[in-house]
Amino acid sequence: QTRFPPRTHRSSRSNNMTGSIRDCVTLNNGIEMPQLGFGVLGVGDHSAVIRAVLDAIDAGYRSIDTASVYGNERGVGEAIRQSDVQREDLFITTKVWNDAQREGRTLAAFDESLARLDLEYLDLYLVHWPVEGHYKQTWQELESIYRSGRARAIGVCNFMPHHINDLLTVTQVTPSVNQVEFHPLLVQPKLMRVCRDHGIQLEAWGPLMKGHFDSVRTIVDLAARYRKTPAQVVLRWHLQHGVVAIPKSSRRARIIENADLYDFVLDAEDMDMLDALNAGKRFGPDPYDFDF
Ligand code: NDP
Repeated sequence: QTRFPPRTHRSSRSNNMTGSIRDCVTLNNGIEMPQLGFGVLGVGDHSAVIRAVLDAIDAGYRSIDTASVYGNERGVGEAIRQSDVQREDLFITTKVWNDAQREGRTLAAFDESLARLDLEYLDLYLVHWPVEGHYKQTWQELESIYRSGRARAIGVCNFMPHHINDLLTVTQVTPSVNQVEFHPLLVQPKLMRVCRDHGIQLEAWGPLMKGHFDSVRTIVDLAARYRKTPAQVVLRWHLQHGVVAIPKSSRRARIIENADLYDFVLDAEDMDMLDALNAGKRFGPDPYDFDF
């Protein structure tokens, strides 16, 4: 029997049950992070990225998740400049890629990301993958970036319980966030518990199972019952678990659909039914077995 940690539907800005797209979680250093964000992996060419990020901001998203390896930080930066929303009202995340996880190279990679984004600071800077033999050193460089004030929070991605426990032997600053693949087919209750025990916010990449939810009967049936779409049911499940989610879409209609999550609540039995889909199924690489 899988044991899940207790659910917390944390919403620091709204008091009602359904919440709003302005809902934030409070990270372990007191910084507020929007619970729903927009992911830009593979959104398209430069102009498609600008268009998608502007569409997302227009739809109410205030958090954008990019990475140096996505090759689209310039487009994200351009959209930020073109948008009517103030920089300080946005939450911008990027990540240090694996080839920059070498002594002294992480600081340079951070500067290069900031320059491509044309920003003075980041809201969140993440270690992209737990590169064996290097991630502790990388983390120490992120700590120095954090202390310099140029990243409001720092965190990791794809860290499994073993990586977290190992990293915590050297940290002076506990990661604020762990961004991992997380969706109803890959719930990772042990990882959820370890993150919660250390005050590390879980953030879901691939929350939409990369679009594969249409074949999952339970999700399709629940969507019909709640008169929502399968994507909305899955994202609502993330919110009610207290997890940050960053769905990606290149299409304006879906960008809007994926943010329209605040007029329904999944009841406890339906949350349980979605939890029970957990099958350890990954659509992306395995953090214990990757070669890049
Ligand atoms: P998602 O789970 O967000 O799925 C995206 C896919 O779902 C796309 O094919 C998209 O197609 C489709 N889709 C989006 N909305 C809908 C909808 N309403 N109905 C049907 N299909 C839909 O996968 P991602 O891998 O993109 O993950 C999200 C973000 O997480 C990334 O963009 C990136 O920012 C981050 N990420 C981080 C990783 C890490 O290692 N830290 C690894 C992977 C991702 P279309 O665009 O055509 O709408």
